[in-house]
Amino acid sequence: RIIEGACESPNEENIDRALRPTKLADYVGQRAVREQLQIFIEAARRRGEPLDHLLLFGPPGLGKTTLAHIVAAEMGVNLRQTSGPVLERPGDLAAILTNLEKNDVLFIDEIHRLSPVVEEILYPALEDYQIDIMIGEGPAARSIKLDLPPFTLIGATTRAGSLTNPLRARFGIVNQLQFYDKDELITIVRRSAKLLNVAIAPEGAAEIAGRSRGTPRVANRLLRRVRDYAEVKHDGTITREVASAALTMLDVDPVGLDFIDRRFLLTILEKFAGGPVGIDNLAAAIGEDRETLEDVVEPYLIQQGFLQRTPRGRVAAPLAWQHFGLTPPTTPGN
Ligand code: ADP
Repeated sequence: RIIEGACESPNEENIDRALRPTKLADYVGQRAVREQLQIFIEAARRRGEPLDHLLLFGPPGLGKTTLAHIVAAEMGVNLRQTSGPVLERPGDLAAILTNLEKNDVLFIDEIHRLSPVVEEILYPALEDYQIDIMIGEGPAARSIKLDLPPFTLIGATTRAGSLTNPLRARFGIVNQLQFYDKDELITIVRRSAKLLNVAIAPEGAAEIAGRSRGTPRVANRLLRRVRDYAEVKHDGTITREVASAALTMLDVDPVGLDFIDRRFLLTILEKFAGGPVGIDNLAAAIGEDRETLEDVVEPYLIQQGFLQRTPRGRVAAPLAWQHFGLTPPTTPGN
């Protein structure tokens, strides 16, 4: 299941792809990750070897898929893309592995959702570039070993904690992607505007960047919606005023919280007196699944200081009360 962008039309997906930087030098932000990869890629290239297996984790839309494509391009190899839930049977993965060429990149999105039987054949593939496959059934069944070309696995996940230990241990490089700061998002919005041929004032770009939840995919999506608004309601140029009016219409608040963020926080504040409340109770009260709340909604709210995860449950931070103009209930003894 694709959590982010699931409601986007194929056309929007094409635009998303068109906006994807293809070189490491054009990849904005994530400096530590970029600097590391630059060195590892250069070293692997000089030796004519594949890059070490790479695990990327972080919330959706921060650039994991983009980075996988960049790694393949910088290595000068093909990228094969699949995802954990798609690989249902060992044969599905075996078919992909046996078709790889030397030093290719295999990108598995949502790698935490691989089934155990599929994961099992991945281990020897990662370690020794070999797979064991079963031929035939019953007493006549036998296993044969196949050699694979050396390759790089890039795994992406929103939850590194859900990976099994043996799988995690097989990644030589593990990187966490961080939310982007406002200046980085401004750079991304301006670059995208240029590619889409949209006139945008610096303050217009800043307005969109500041309300993008620290996430490039959200920034690009808001840019496209604001562009529609600017074309229909104004002369097409995105000024600060136009961006602000469009984003308010889109129900994105001044600090970038969207409908579901606000609903999540307001549920804790109003229904659970600010918490602590368990995530399953919250999920039931909001009518969202727990995984979406944990992977998509909470990381940004925690990073921005609206929410705390405690052993007893989720607690709204003072900033959350302030943001909605509400007063925390006074507890006896205060
Ligand atoms: P993820 O795989 O983490 O969900 P993607 O790689 O699909 O995220 O990124 C979503 C979109 O955001 C991409 O289409 C790309 O245009 C943009 N994007 C992501 N990271 C960056 C970046 N560092 N610099 C510029 N654009 C980016």
